[in-house]
Amino acid sequence: MARLTLPLPMRPGHVHAYLLEGADGWTLVDTGLALPATAETFERVARALSIRRIAITHFHPDHVGGAQDARAATGAAVHQGALDYEQCAHVWGNDGWPQVIADWFLRHGVPPAVANELLEAGSVYSQFIRYVPDPEPLHAGDAIDGWDVIATPGHADGHLALVRDGVLIAGDHVLPRITPAVGLYPDSRPDPLGDYLDSLERTAALGLRIALPGHGDPVEDPTGRCRALVEHHRLRLDETAAALRPEPRTGYDVSYVLFGAELAPAARRFAVAETLSHLERLVHEGRARRNEASGGVSYTDS
Ligand SMILES: [Zn+2]
Repeated sequence: MARLTLPLPMRPGHVHAYLLEGADGWTLVDTGLALPATAETFERVARALSIRRIAITHFHPDHVGGAQDARAATGAAVHQGALDYEQCAHVWGNDGWPQVIADWFLRHGVPPAVANELLEAGSVYSQFIRYVPDPEPLHAGDAIDGWDVIATPGHADGHLALVRDGVLIAGDHVLPRITPAVGLYPDSRPDPLGDYLDSLERTAALGLRIALPGHGDPVEDPTGRCRALVEHHRLRLDETAAALRPEPRTGYDVSYVLFGAELAPAARRFAVAETLSHLERLVHEGRARRNEASGGVSYTDS
């Protein structure tokens, strides 16, 4: 096995791809962004190793963006989760998506000027996203050259990870130090944080030795890390519940309570989405109420 660390022009500054050796050659997991330096890395790797397939953990730009370049360099087919690809094409293959996102944030209380800034901040990366249309579909329960494919929804609805002999190729499901973002977005599953907490419980039950994440150092105690992430979200849910009142508050309002006022537009976008995933989990737990009026969506304590 080998790790490829690929550059990102935004924080955290890098993303890891992994090379897994199997009986019939190598599998590349994840592809970084479509940057010239990343394409050169794939060409160099392809000269040294026989890459038989490319697997994508999830459709976020820093994992799927370099897929076309990886395929061009290696000649290998791209394998991607069926649901994940559906969302990938829905989001990145749709010129209207930034407007869908902006309208949706408006419904959740984001002021128009801020929504416009979000719109601009969100379109910066589109040139670096070159996913492969109609990939080979992957499903939980499949095996890739000895690695089991498992569903790890939460950070992305269709997030997949690979496991063999106690080693998890984690994508962004479990990260060291950073808490993986779990946001609610238009057309996403209704309770992504509920999905994520279930995924973490299942991952903890695997008794893993090590998790190799998309960002940062290997996670030496994956079970402990899963438990810490569950605990983090439980505390966050309590803070979110405490921020609710009998009077309606929007996801945007509550994001100020949880994340403070000093955020750049791109960070505010993630803060609002993350706040909404917590609010929706509270609705599912019967601890909050969602109110949908013509103008938008708000939440009250129940
Ligand atoms: Zn991600």
